[in-house]
Amino acid sequence: MIAVKMIEMDPIESACLRPVTEARCAGSRGFADQRLARELRTIAAMIGCYCEGHHDARATLCPECQGLLDYAALRLERCRFGAEKPVCAKCPVHCYQPARREQVRAVMRYAGPRMLWRHPVLSLRHWLDGFRKAPALV
Ligand SMILES: [Zn+2]
Repeated sequence: MIAVKMIEMDPIESACLRPVTEARCAGSRGFADQRLARELRTIAAMIGCYCEGHHDARATLCPECQGLLDYAALRLERCRFGAEKPVCAKCPVHCYQPARREQVRAVMRYAGPRMLWRHPVLSLRHWLDGFRKAPALV
């Protein structure tokens, strides 16, 4: 009976609830790192798109946008959910400073629809990641 229940559970969720399935958990962590790396690429692309449209900096980001990207990268790295991270829009934890949060929201409002054309694969995957729920806080 227990075995049947385990199979019915989401594999990632059950892996992190039970130390018994540590091998599996390690496997899903690799996947999560890949996902976090992708999330960083997504935010970098969005900030790039915003900077290009607003600050006339073509090849590299302007210092202001670079600062925002550095901040976003740090927040992503320190995300308390790690492997289980939901997309930021669905996250119950507000880890951004209010000013940074406003900045990043402006970037997303502008870059969001444009991303679909420029980076369809990243957009699709981010959209799919949007179905992940944040794990309950303990
Ligand atoms: Zn800029």
